[in-house]
Amino acid sequence: MFLPFALPDIGDDEINEVIDSLRSGWVTTGPKTKKFESDFKDFLGDNSLDCISVNSATSGLHLALESLGIGPGDEVIVPSYTFTATAEVVRYLGATPVFVDVDIETYNISVKSFEKAITFNTKAVIPVHFAGLPADMNEIISVAKEKNIFVIEDAAHALPTLYKGMLVGTLNSDITVFSFYANKTMTTGEGGMLVTRNAELAKRCKVMRLHGISRDAFDRYTSNKPSWYYEVIAPGFKYNLSDIASSIGIQQLKRLNYFIEKRNLLAAYYFEKLCDLPLKLPPLPSDGSTHAWHLFPIQLCENRGISRDSFIQSMYDKGIGCSVHFIPLHLQPYWRDTYNLNSESFPNSESLFSNEVSLPLYTKMSLDDAERVVLAVREILNG
Ligand SMILES: *Cc1c(COP(=O)(O)O)cnc(C)c1O
Repeated sequence: MFLPFALPDIGDDEINEVIDSLRSGWVTTGPKTKKFESDFKDFLGDNSLDCISVNSATSGLHLALESLGIGPGDEVIVPSYTFTATAEVVRYLGATPVFVDVDIETYNISVKSFEKAITFNTKAVIPVHFAGLPADMNEIISVAKEKNIFVIEDAAHALPTLYKGMLVGTLNSDITVFSFYANKTMTTGEGGMLVTRNAELAKRCKVMRLHGISRDAFDRYTSNKPSWYYEVIAPGFKYNLSDIASSIGIQQLKRLNYFIEKRNLLAAYYFEKLCDLPLKLPPLPSDGSTHAWHLFPIQLCENRGISRDSFIQSMYDKGIGCSVHFIPLHLQPYWRDTYNLNSESFPNSESLFSNEVSLPLYTKMSLDDAERVVLAVREILNG
């Protein structure tokens, strides 16, 4: 039996909630989406937040930058060690992504590199909480505040993650964006949630999420305009989340605390059983922070006697799917060639990438599955 690298955990409650939506006649954005947003806000436990559902985290990041007025000539600082979505949204708006290296221990954006990359044109920074380990948000926000730079958290991996006792989503950044892609810590199939405390930004994101139709203008005139009336105030996007997707989200959210317990259990098992091998285990949170364990990234040691790629092939041959997170963006043809990026500028990303393997870790896995993974890793590295 092949153990895939990742699988979503969909139960009968999710399925029944979707059936309920299908039978109700509401298949696009409606009451379930409203409930999902409100439940999400309850989960984060902060009433001052606006939670705005979207059809992907990529859409959410795009809306975030748009609402902050990012455009041509502006620079947005992003880590090289991330998924391409973090940077592509900057290009959507004609702005320039500025790639910086990450910390060699945490895989998260290096605050020193961030600081060094700031110019008069820098408008925003997008830290990524890699694998579910929070970035140095206090340092990042303090540098950003001093230089008048907006902070957008790419929290695609960080649900739920505590940063010094506070849930990611409730920190002092401008906007936080979560992903509900199929392999994330909870899923709606495709989907995302944009979270902000800034009412002006929230208003703009809601308008741009659905064709640039202004609810305000709409509401103001409903009393004396016919029901079919609406006003378009900008060329917006089609980024709303459907009630079918939100149905899945409502039920996944109820299980999120169980999900994180299970992920912690599997991570702890790996730590216990792999600690004597020629590999480096993932960095652990400190200081009242927690890890969401979206990924379990290990670093193979240089003296291990097998290439990273052969290691992954050997795992596959033993019936276990592994992956690599990420191919740094400075090595991707589009980013490398458009911005003349070279390896010397990203020594930590390069070093992390060349030895990284992501082991399977998801809630559908049993401890027996985890044991299979451990035995396979042991055999390959000891043999
Ligand atoms: C998955 C992911 C995204 C994009 O999420 P979607 O919901 O698929 O758009 C963005 N950033 C990072 C770091 C991711 O891993």
